Amino acid sequence: MAELLPPKERMKIPRQIMPEQKPEARIRNFNEVNFGFTKELAIKEAQRCLHCKTPTCIDGCPVDIKIDDFIKLIIKEDFLGAARKIKEDNVLPAICGRVCPQEEQCEVTCVLGKKYEPVAIGRLERFVADYEMAKGVEPEPVKVKKKNKKVAVVGSGPAGLSCAGDLINMGYDVTVFEALHELGGVLVYGIPEFRLPKEIVRKEINNLEKQGVRFVTDMVIGKSMTIDELFEEEDFKAVFIGVGAGLPWFMNIPGENLVGVYSANEFLTRINLMKAYKFPEFDSPMLDCKGKNVAVMGGGNTAMDAVRTALRLGAKNAYIVYRRSEKEMPARIEEVHHAKDEGVQFLMLTAPTEMIGDDQGRLKAMKCIKMELGEPDDSGRRRPVPIENSEYTLDVDLAVIAIGNGSNPLIHQTTPEIEVNKWGNITVQGDNMKTTKKGVFAGGDIVTGGATVILAMGAGRNAARAINEYLSNGKSW
Ligand code: FAD
Repeated sequence: MAELLPPKERMKIPRQIMPEQKPEARIRNFNEVNFGFTKELAIKEAQRCLHCKTPTCIDGCPVDIKIDDFIKLIIKEDFLGAARKIKEDNVLPAICGRVCPQEEQCEVTCVLGKKYEPVAIGRLERFVADYEMAKGVEPEPVKVKKKNKKVAVVGSGPAGLSCAGDLINMGYDVTVFEALHELGGVLVYGIPEFRLPKEIVRKEINNLEKQGVRFVTDMVIGKSMTIDELFEEEDFKAVFIGVGAGLPWFMNIPGENLVGVYSANEFLTRINLMKAYKFPEFDSPMLDCKGKNVAVMGGGNTAMDAVRTALRLGAKNAYIVYRRSEKEMPARIEEVHHAKDEGVQFLMLTAPTEMIGDDQGRLKAMKCIKMELGEPDDSGRRRPVPIENSEYTLDVDLAVIAIGNGSNPLIHQTTPEIEVNKWGNITVQGDNMKTTKKGVFAGGDIVTGGATVILAMGAGRNAARAINEYLSNGKSW
């Protein structure tokens, strides 16, 4: 068992570096970039924790993981105990340990971070979750008495999965309905294999299945079955809607309908879900990036995923085209660093104004304009302003638009009592996630617009709590 060092000694230990694939090797494969901590690195990193009397890191975690407790268990080398401790609050730790923006959440509030680098909480979370998975630990059986009440969860992204996980442990009969043929939402069709191996998502979902959650795929609620039919014909007593924000935005510039212009959703889904990168083993339409110039518009995680995917598919030049500066980019810092190390070219303060095609209607170039930053806009970020006479043309064979997503209108169209705001997001009452229709709750990206995995999970948890209260107390709506 490792020892708990005196505070001064703890501060002397530098933040441990997680081993990763070398850039020149990883741009030729889709394997995970980060290897994760070894046991020794995890213990050393855990020993840096100051174990504050009031651990502020927990305030930074949207699902309130007992960070201090699980780190103590790592020091004691009780890794399975640490995994159990995390799972009291987070059903998907192997996923969150990989994709959560810890640098803006738990790690930003870590006291050690005021003077030194914060404890690598996310990497420790990932380590214990992977350790538990490697040991083949079965999920805890549901301990509470069955309530014999059916709850439907619409959408199998992180919001739906965390809601389903909590509800099954409260004794409800839970069925998750998913429109696609694979479960996991953006975790499966959006985030690429090199950042989040799909095997991990599948294992986490299998654990929920073993606990009794029923999953129905290829079922589009609002089309194959309506919300009302779930109540009236299938006898569900409550419904949680976690359908995400999957409707891509475009830039509305001339030429966006040319062959070779994709939304990031389509680009990434073809590659992740339909495994276009494994052609001919998987017979899905191939996106030929080999030797091509690929430009990705946007500065978020989606843009980084798309541009790094293009590189792995053999792009000659892979560009990020972003209208603000790097400081304003919403992508995780780690992803930006990885993209740079891999050779992505960042064209900052640049906006496309037109897509130019050849006589076959195929994209061949993009007209761009240089920008400068003006006063802050509604988002608090400085507004990009075009610089006069700064237009230029960039040779581009494939363009990917990754500037954000809106909500799919299907549920509201078929159940108009469920109110949406001007952006089409479902409106809910504060933390109890109640919609304007009795018995229907909602959370995740469909409520907030595109956000993060952990915020979607937090919303799913809040909804599970509110559904339990609603079904237990028979409270009026
Ligand atoms: P989703 O994950 O979108 O899941 C919704 C599910 O509902 C989908 O499976 C969809 O098929 C299904 N569905 C939709 N309509 C219906 C219907 N009518 N009937 C049945 N099912 C339906 N966040 C991070 O924290 N870190 C990251 O690194 C990160 N990277 C990202 C990279 C990409 C490419 C993208 C697109 C997003 C990324 N995000 C990241 C954001 C994060 O993935 C989302 O905020 C999160 O997945 C939202 O979860 P959700 O459950 O609300 O929705």
